[in-house]
Amino acid sequence: MPLRVLILGGTTEASVLARKIAGDPRLAPVLSLAGRTTNPQPQPIATRTGGFGGIEGLTRFLRSEAIDAVVDATHPYADQMSTHAVTACQETGVPLASLVRPEWRRHADDRWQVVADSEAAARALGKEPRRVFLSLGRQDLHVFAEAPQHHYLARLIEPPGQFRLPPELRLLQARGPFDRADEERLLREERIEIMVSKNAGGTATYAKIEAARALGLPVVMIARPHKPVGVTLADVEACAAWLHGLAPRGV
Ligand code: NAP
Repeated sequence: MPLRVLILGGTTEASVLARKIAGDPRLAPVLSLAGRTTNPQPQPIATRTGGFGGIEGLTRFLRSEAIDAVVDATHPYADQMSTHAVTACQETGVPLASLVRPEWRRHADDRWQVVADSEAAARALGKEPRRVFLSLGRQDLHVFAEAPQHHYLARLIEPPGQFRLPPELRLLQARGPFDRADEERLLREERIEIMVSKNAGGTATYAKIEAARALGLPVVMIARPHKPVGVTLADVEACAAWLHGLAPRGV
C-alpha cells in the first residue's frame, strides 16, 4: 500500500518535491496550496486548494484522508500553517517533516538593517521621502500605507487585494526567478534608494540582494518568524529518503 503523503506547498521546493516523487509507486502524495495564486503552475501530482479550516480542519483532513505523513514545504514566512501542522500532527500521531530553506547570509559589503516585521520595516524607511523597492508579497503591502511619504515600487506575482495601499505606489507584476543584470537595471532605472525584503533564502529571488550589494543600496531585511517544525530536512532528496523510510500507518 503506498504511503499517503500531504505536502503543504506554495513554494519552489514543494514543486520540486512533487516532480521528484511523481510516479513513485511507494507514495500517494497530495500537494496542498493555500489558493493565493489564481494561476498556479501545473503540478505532476494530485493537488487540493484552500485552507483546511484551522487546526481542527487540518486534523479532520489528516484523519479522513488517512494521511501517513506530512511534509511542511511552506514558505519560511508562512508561520501559521506550520504551527497548525505541528499541532494537528501531534494530535493525530502523523509524522511531520519540514523542508526548511536556509536563510541568506549577510556578506561583508551588504548594507542590511534587520527588523522584526513589516511594520518595523515601514518605520525603518525614515521620515524623509525615499524611492523604495518593495519585494515582499501582497499581504504586507498595506502596512506601508502608514508611511505615505515614500515612493514605492512593489513587485508582486498577483495584484494586491482590497487593502489600503500607500498613495505613491506602482505595481510591477512578475514572477521569479530573476536575473542579476535585470535586477541591477531595474534598481538603476527606477532610481531606487532602499529595498525592503524578506529573508526568503534560495536562489529564485537572490539576484535582487546581489544587485543591491553591487549598487551599495541599503536593504531593510525582515527577519524570519519563529516556525515550529517537526523533523527538519534540508532538501528534497533528504525528504524523499525520509518518506521512503516510513511505513503506511495502517500496516
Ligand atoms: P500562513 O499565514 O502561514 O497561513 C494562513 C492560512 O492560510 C493557514 O492558516 C491556512 O488556512 C492557509 N494556508 C497556508 N498555506 C496553506 C497550504 N499550503 N495549504 C492549505 N492552506 C494553507 O501562510 P501565508 O504566509 O499566508 O502563505 C500562504 C501560502 O503562500 C503558503 O502556501 C506559502 O507557502 C505561500 N507563500 C508565502 C509567502 C510569504 O511570504 N508568506 C511567500 C511565498 C509563498 P487554514 O487555517 O484555513 O487551514
